Amino acid sequence: MIKLSDFSSFFVANWKLNGNFQFIDEFINNLMLPKDPSKCVVICPTAIHLDYISKNKNGFYVGAQNVSEHEEGAYTGEISVDSLSDLNVNFCIIGHSERRQIFKEKNEEINLKSERLIDNGLIPIICIGETLEQKEKGITKKVLEEQLMNSVPSSSNFENTIIAYEPVWAIGTGLTPTIEDIDETHRYIREHNEKLNKYKILYGGSVKASNAKEITGLPNVDGALIGGASLKPQEFSVILAD
Ligand code: PEP
Repeated sequence: MIKLSDFSSFFVANWKLNGNFQFIDEFINNLMLPKDPSKCVVICPTAIHLDYISKNKNGFYVGAQNVSEHEEGAYTGEISVDSLSDLNVNFCIIGHSERRQIFKEKNEEINLKSERLIDNGLIPIICIGETLEQKEKGITKKVLEEQLMNSVPSSSNFENTIIAYEPVWAIGTGLTPTIEDIDETHRYIREHNEKLNKYKILYGGSVKASNAKEITGLPNVDGALIGGASLKPQEFSVILAD
């Protein structure tokens, strides 16, 4: 199991449904990893490409974008945590807003999936975040609290789980909260219950080369979950640069 406390920050590339073998070869050839060994880089390709990237990785970790809450059995099309372990996958994004919205994943399912990962020594990166409507209604903190309460399993702790705060309205839109708002929300997550105090909390939502340093430099931000910009190796390398 990866020792999260060995790292000061985490940079997680969420490739979503993008990439092929040629893209991966070019990406790896053009990627410049940070010199600072305390920065942990995690690449999350499609499930089909996990094996290939795992065999070709050098200096970064591999993460999946989803896992089944079931161990094995008659669940056609699902991917088990055992299969992820077989491919040397160490991390898994769980409860991304696209899974919550498009695939109707509920906190309870996210909780079970995270528990399954923890039980098998993989690190869940549990995503939480408010929609634009919820933000405009002024219920962001209430939404985050409910997601945290119900999607983080009781077996979770700061050594086996990462939290990613991703305002849904900031994902893929080019919009980001103000630096002050990111700082305040991360502090809220950290302080909202004692258990979360020492967790690594990442920010996600339109992180790019031009804003990454300011965002990840905030005291309560322990790195970033990056979508669009992680598909561009040169830009991703700037985000990672020391
Ligand atoms: C994401 O997919 O988790 C994400 C943050 O995407 P983007 O960086 O493109 O907003």
